[in-house]
Amino acid sequence: MEQIEIFQNTEIAFAWRSDKELKRAYLLMKLISKPWLVKTGKFLANLAINLHIPINWIVKPTIYSHFVGGETIEECMPLVRQLEKFNVKAILDYSVEGSEDERKIQEAMDQTLKTIYNAAKDPNVPFAVFKPSGFGSPKILAKAQAGADLTKQEQEHIEKFRQRLYTLFKTAYDNDVPIMIDAEDYAYQNFVDKVVWENMLEFNKEKPIVYNTLQMYRKDRLDYLKWMYEQAQKHHIKFGIKFVRGAYMEKERELAKKLGYPDPIYPTKEETDRAFNKALEFSAERIDTIAIFNATHNEYSTYLLTELMKKHGIAKDDPRCYFAQLYGMSDHITFNLAKLGYNVAKYIPYGPVRHVLPYLIRRTEENTSVAGQTPRELRLYETEFKRRKQLKKAKKR
Ligand SMILES: Cc1cc2nc3c(=O)[nH]c(=O)nc-3n(C[C@H](O)[C@H](O)[C@H](O)COP(=O)(O)OP(=O)(O)OC[C@H]3O[C@@H](n4cnc5c(N)ncnc54)[C@H](O)[C@@H]3O)c2cc1C
Repeated sequence: MEQIEIFQNTEIAFAWRSDKELKRAYLLMKLISKPWLVKTGKFLANLAINLHIPINWIVKPTIYSHFVGGETIEECMPLVRQLEKFNVKAILDYSVEGSEDERKIQEAMDQTLKTIYNAAKDPNVPFAVFKPSGFGSPKILAKAQAGADLTKQEQEHIEKFRQRLYTLFKTAYDNDVPIMIDAEDYAYQNFVDKVVWENMLEFNKEKPIVYNTLQMYRKDRLDYLKWMYEQAQKHHIKFGIKFVRGAYMEKERELAKKLGYPDPIYPTKEETDRAFNKALEFSAERIDTIAIFNATHNEYSTYLLTELMKKHGIAKDDPRCYFAQLYGMSDHITFNLAKLGYNVAKYIPYGPVRHVLPYLIRRTEENTSVAGQTPRELRLYETEFKRRKQLKKAKKR
């Protein structure tokens, strides 16, 4: 992995962490870098959930507190204020996924509306965000996308899904809060795209309020971005895109194989990287129409956008360009960018322990792979430990 100089200052990266906090984070990263431990942990967590065995006592002080802001918005607020001191913004993400039952969906609705109102009054919270699967059954959404015959109940479910999204986008518009929708499964993403596009036509006339997410590991996303741009020109709207590489590669590949359709994802990491970076170039050149939310832990893709901003005369704090990393990861990118004056945010998931488990499992699995980011995180922590130790020694002398 290429190292970019401007992100290597560990004093800036970890200034917000005490020695004790840093050590705890380091130990946790060490633990989740062990594949056998992550596998066993995942198995035990699923077992405990199925058997209704309490797991909060072990999960909450460990991986939960590293990757999640709290159970409620209020619990996340001290973190939001702490980040603010370092010029880092916060985006609160109610991380409940794959809801089937109405009660859970209603809870997601109430929470997401709350995050919109919270963002409207807090200058350090620049966006609201939600997951499509918090508002509809993935199975029924996939059926709708496939054009399958829907039962009356399923039709109603889809109609409600549309209405809920409309309510969220309209509330965001009324409160002048940009809102983004996460990307999830290929099986229903195109359907979600259609719904989001209809809302973009309605709410993005003056400025980008509605943001979609493009997973650039998908072979068709660059073309989709170009299509959106052409249509936006025609309809005189603007739009925002959160660019990500994509978090569900293995699952998507397996499903494509099992169901016998072509793998929707590029065969190699290099091709995904190329598509991601091309999308940034395409959008930066058209910044009057496309607002960019560069959601990545990749140093080069982050650096590339800073260079593109320079090239196109875009100010560092132009609200049309944002950078973001997930809470608990890549502080070296976040805090160094913030110090340089760019718009940068931490994506902070929140929610009850049981509900955020799928998210936590994804984070640990991502961090355990050899190609993943853990070796880099560990190296940065170690550099900072050394630096602090030397500083203490020098002070004693
Ligand atoms: C703020 C934020 C918000 C996010 N929101 C979403 C979201 O809404 N939806 C979502 O799906 N993900 C989301 N992600 C996760 C994201 O998609 C990536 O999984 C994660 O950030 C790792 O990619 P990277 O660009 O940070 O780093 P890198 O380490 O450079 O890239 C790793 C990624 O490259 C791709 N890749 C790896 N190997 C291959 C291969 N052999 N062939 C093809 N591609 C490959 C995969 O997408 C993998 O995750 C978000 C990430 C951030 C930081």
